[in-house]
Order: sequence, then structure tokens, then C-alpha cells
Amino acid sequence: MDQKWIRSSVRDFQLYYNPRIEGDPLRMDTNTNPLGENPAGKAALRECLDMDLGQYPNTYGDRLRAELGGLYGLDQENFVVGNGSDEVLDIICKTFMEPGGKVVIAYPSYSLHGWFSKVNGGGVDEVDLLPGFQLDVESMLAADGDIIILCTPNNPTSNLFRQEDVLELVGRSERPVVVDEAYGEFAGESLLPLVERYPNLIVTRTFSKAYALSGMRVGYSAANREVTLAMQKVRIPYSLDKVSEHVAIRALQDQDFVRRSVAIVHKERAHLETGLKKLGMVPYPSDANFILFKCPVSSSDLVKRLAARGVLIRDFGSRRLLEDCARTTIGSREQNDLLLERMAEVLRECH
Ligand code: PMP
Repeated sequence: MDQKWIRSSVRDFQLYYNPRIEGDPLRMDTNTNPLGENPAGKAALRECLDMDLGQYPNTYGDRLRAELGGLYGLDQENFVVGNGSDEVLDIICKTFMEPGGKVVIAYPSYSLHGWFSKVNGGGVDEVDLLPGFQLDVESMLAADGDIIILCTPNNPTSNLFRQEDVLELVGRSERPVVVDEAYGEFAGESLLPLVERYPNLIVTRTFSKAYALSGMRVGYSAANREVTLAMQKVRIPYSLDKVSEHVAIRALQDQDFVRRSVAIVHKERAHLETGLKKLGMVPYPSDANFILFKCPVSSSDLVKRLAARGVLIRDFGSRRLLEDCARTTIGSREQNDLLLERMAEVLRECH
């Protein structure tokens, strides 16, 4: 195939993280939920057998949008729902970035933020985080781009940004500011209730983490009505299928599950941090359901050797500012102890 057939802006793209899975490894590489899959969601899936699959879903996922409105005390017209919050981020770039435009993103952060811009023919202006992985508000405001995108708690560094910094960015910017709160439930603070106050604020959230439904692919944004309507016009109609919408609604109605997920993460975070430190790792402070830590050995070596022992975590060691860093999901007590045990074996092997 002639490389020229490929659109020039995507010619150097690499495939996304897609580890080879052998056997039934312990997945601590994708920041999912320590309680396993969502039980109300699973029960709702069984109800879906009676659905008429010959008919399309509602064009804009209105039932789920109405439920979200009820949960947050907003209107359904404040919400866009999509196939994961990744789809919603894509819609944001398609709606607010000029062809050939740019987005301003923080570094190190979620790699797909820049990817969505590039895949839509745009560029990125990347602003390094300050020491302690906090936002450089002035540099982000000065950077050139149609949209500012950040996530808090930040992935992969796992910390919350200072809320006053995020609000300053939103308040002083004349562009849309996207606050990706994929891990917001674990942090206990959110900008979502402020979307009617700030006309340029877009908050994205997901059912993949605190709701334990990453297999269903459901996410959403909250923003004022005008911003939301602009996005609705760009969104692929019917992108959220009937089954996913129904399962997400049932999961949303079970807020007790979310509370239990948050509680176990808070409890297990301290246990895992202590265990990592005992092994000579240096964990960074976490406000999320995962921990970034610096390894006393090569992180790539550690991650490979753990994978060979059936435990997957994610290596970030080849990235600038994250040298010899790896990230692990916070699991159940049993999962965390298994990870720590396997790590101890690997470290003995490395020394
Ligand atoms: N934002 C951040 C910061 C994430 O880490 C992820 C998932 N890894 C997403 C968005 C996308 O989540 P989903 O598409 O599953 O909603």
C-alpha cells in the first residue's frame, strides 16, 4: 500500500495500548473498578433480551440524559451521552476546533487528549505540568489553541489539580475548557455542578470507572445548553446503543455501588501505598483509583516480568518526566497483595 493514501496528519500514528493477553491475567493496567463488574448493570443486561433490536435506539440517548439530569439537579439538555467519554472528547474536538486548529493540553496527561485533536486534523500545544504535577495556569492561558483540555484527577499522575487553578483557567479563558473527570467520583470534588455558571466549562465523566461498566462503553459530558446543543449536532446519531443505555441507567440508579467503590479505593489506596514503599517504590500522592510510582529498577523490565507472572500494570518509563514510572490500578485487598507479592519476586530477580 502506498503510504500517501493515508491522510498525512495520521501517517505516523501507532496502534493504541493493546497488550497481548495470555491466560487470565490480573488486569491492573486499565484503572477499572476493584469491585468487579456493576451488579445492577449486569442484571439490567438480562432485561435487554426483550428489546426490539430491529429498531434504532433513541437518537440522542434521551432516557439516560434525563436520568443524569435528575442525579445532578440539571436538565437533560445539559448532557451529551456517547460511546465512552472518549467519544465525547472526540465530539468536543469536532465541534470546537477549527480544521487545522489546535488544542492546549497538559503534559504528562491522558495521551488521547492530543490524539483526538490530531485525528481530527488538528495540532496540540502541550504545556508541562509544574513540579508536583500541578497546572501551569499562566502558560496554558498563553498557549495557542481553540480548546483547553485537562483531566483531574490527572491520568497517569493520579493527583487532583488545585481546584482554584482549574477555576482560574476556566474563568479567564475565552475558549472552551474541558475538565475530564473520568476519575472524579474517587476524588470527591467536581466542577460538574458549575456548568451553568461558566459558559465555557465542559465536564466529561464516564461509566467505565466508578460504575464498573468499561465493557459497555458509556460516557457523558455536562455543559450549558448552548454548548451541549452544538455538540449534539456533531455527534454521530445513535452512537449509544440501546443495551448500553439501559445498563447505564440501571447502574446510575444504584448510587450505593458507587459509594462502595469509592470507599474500597480509599481504604485500599493506603494499603497499596504502604506495600509499594516497603518494596522500595516511590508512590506519588493519589486522588484516584490508581497510583503512579517510581521504580528502583527499570520500569519496563518490572512491567514485563510482572506480565510474565500474570499481573498487568502499565509502564510509563519511556515518557519524559516519568522516567522509570509505572502505574497500577488500586484493586481489592486480594489483588493488591498478589501484585505486591509478584513485585517482591521480580525485585529479587532484578537484584
Ligand atoms: N479520560 C481519562 C483521563 C481516562 O483515563 C479514560 C480511560 N482510560 C477516559 C477518559 C476514557 O474513558 P471511557 O472512554 O472508557 O469513558
